[in-house]
Amino acid sequence: MKNIKDYDLEDLKEELKTMGEKSFRAEQIFKWLYQDKVTSFDEMLNLSLELREKLKQNYSICNFNILKKLESKDGTIKYLFDVLDDNAIETVLMSYHHGYSVCVSTQIGCKMGCKFCASTGIKFIRSLNAGEIVEQIIKIEQDTGVKVSNIVFMGIGEPLDNYENVIKAIRILNNPKGLNIGARHISVSTSGLVPMIYKLAEENIQCTLSISLHATTDEKRSSMMPVNKLYNIEQLIKACKDYIQVTNRRVSFEYALAKDNNDNLEDAERLVKLLRGMNCHVNLIPINKIENGKFDKSTNENIMRFRDYLNDHGIVATIRRELGSDIEAACGQLRRKNIKE
Ligand code: SAH
Repeated sequence: MKNIKDYDLEDLKEELKTMGEKSFRAEQIFKWLYQDKVTSFDEMLNLSLELREKLKQNYSICNFNILKKLESKDGTIKYLFDVLDDNAIETVLMSYHHGYSVCVSTQIGCKMGCKFCASTGIKFIRSLNAGEIVEQIIKIEQDTGVKVSNIVFMGIGEPLDNYENVIKAIRILNNPKGLNIGARHISVSTSGLVPMIYKLAEENIQCTLSISLHATTDEKRSSMMPVNKLYNIEQLIKACKDYIQVTNRRVSFEYALAKDNNDNLEDAERLVKLLRGMNCHVNLIPINKIENGKFDKSTNENIMRFRDYLNDHGIVATIRRELGSDIEAACGQLRRKNIKE
């Protein structure tokens, strides 16, 4: 049966029309699902009994169970959700001074194979549907009672390798009748699927594009991120420039600093040359060492030296505060666990 949360508002209106219903019913259903967060059609009291029955016969309402919940000393919460087909996914809630942010997963496993990431080395099973992406936020708002204001597509999976579902999820999250989260508060992070970056630029969604760059030469980047062999740095930067031009939005570059690997001044110098003149921001992440990983965290001294070099040369760079590392919820630490484990 189709999950009703897989439809954005426009699609749902179409569905209702084919059922012989007025399209405003879709807006009522949206409100029940995303504002009242009901888990059954029976609770949708302003719909006729007949329509509720019809909906029940044709659609399910995806409703995750919380399998595990881990709370960090810094307030970060990591959830393990049961996605109902014997798989589980991880989602993280972070609290910042500007509000609550959720890091969502987009796939069960990941195909990209980045050498420093814990999601590598687990089998890719499947992509999540739009409703399963949105459900992560619904469940967290329900469980904690907080209103989430920011979404980062930085959990397990490559969002642009699950393009249609991610776009649909963004439209549901963004809709004022849906979860009402401003597009500017939604970041999509990619390892660099260049053709999809061009496509995203044309969607007319004002979300932030975040690029996991991590290196400044093709040799180094390919050794860390196999995707670079498909789309190299030059192609990637060109796509980012296109994105900035089309959307008029600032692009964010993620750069995870690993000791004696990509954290010296020559790297910083090359990064400045690469990004010069672009409307962008660099997020420096002290790399998190993963089990059996070969990359170690840079020293604080090197991290600050790297940041200062960028800032002194006209590139805005900040060091990302690490949250949730004590519960394995920090960048790159998420690892899907099977329910049966
Ligand atoms: N596939 C997407 C989104 C998921 S990863 C992407 O590659 O962007 C989210 C971010 O965490 C990416 O910038 C990724 O490169 C970074 N990351 C992965 N492993 C990490 C680690 N061990 N330490 C620090 N950052 C890491």
